[in-house]
Amino acid sequence: MTMPGSRLTSPIGHRCGAGRRWPSSTITSPRMRPSRRCSRSTSSVPGRNAVVYATDENSLAYAFLVFKYPTSPFRKSLTDADKRSLSARMFKGVDGWIVPQMVEAMCKAEDLFFDSVSQIHMPVWSKGRVVLAGDAAHATSFMSGQGSSMALVGAYVLAGEIATNADYSSAFEAYEKLVRPFVEMNQALVDEGKRIMIPDTQEEIDVRNEMLRKMAAEGSKVLEKDSSRQIHSALTLPDYA
Ligand SMILES: Cc1cc2nc3c(=O)[nH]c(=O)nc-3n(C[C@H](O)[C@H](O)[C@H](O)COP(=O)(O)OP(=O)(O)OC[C@H]3O[C@@H](n4cnc5c(N)ncnc54)[C@H](O)[C@@H]3O)c2cc1C
Repeated sequence: MTMPGSRLTSPIGHRCGAGRRWPSSTITSPRMRPSRRCSRSTSSVPGRNAVVYATDENSLAYAFLVFKYPTSPFRKSLTDADKRSLSARMFKGVDGWIVPQMVEAMCKAEDLFFDSVSQIHMPVWSKGRVVLAGDAAHATSFMSGQGSSMALVGAYVLAGEIATNADYSSAFEAYEKLVRPFVEMNQALVDEGKRIMIPDTQEEIDVRNEMLRKMAAEGSKVLEKDSSRQIHSALTLPDYA
């Protein structure tokens, strides 16, 4: 099986320095944690975005810094210090909101996760007795999201097809035939995600902010009409029982 390499990895052109699960003790500013449950706060300048979000009411806030960068920083090996200093350099001079505190916390965080934002596009998902599922077959990136859902859907369908087909090769074929179009629709949301996550210009930031304001004001009414939501649930799972 050919494993994901540069040919199969589609870089989206953004680098992400993400402090995941920062302990709340490093986030001492009450402004660092979004005020509402499941809420997200964001601050953008063109090509750079700082985000803090919380998924529940425990003491953890998740924060990340994402920025456009012209070349892959991974062309040379990067030390942990390189990753921190590159991220800090990219946000130098971005003084709004709590960005300086985020950069400072990122420089000290013990659980820094740093990677390029990329998608995986494999031309085939199986060869012989080897089959790929989840990120190995089709990582989506957080610009389109849904990585965990895609992995779960793929695993469910793969297991179901193996259980109900006479041989593994027809099971692998049926699995890919059913799941690939769904995955590709979701991966294609990346362009919309990029516009929201990391607008390139001030005009794009203004349009994004207006949309977020509308979502905050109208809530679920806007979400129901949201075409990306419809794509997230576009596949009806077969019942293999
Ligand atoms: C920072 C970050 C934030 C994310 N946030 C979200 C989110 O909010 N929502 C969402 O839906 N998705 C999110 N994702 C994406 C999501 O985590 C992945 O899409 C999902 O975990 C893919 O599941 P998987 O089972 O394919 O791969 P993984 O979860 O990566 O599981 C692969 C497993 O295989 C193991 N492994 C690797 N090599 C070997 C080996 N040789 N032998 C044995 N074991 C091995 C690994 O240790 C790992 O446990 C995020 C990803 C990142 C990096």
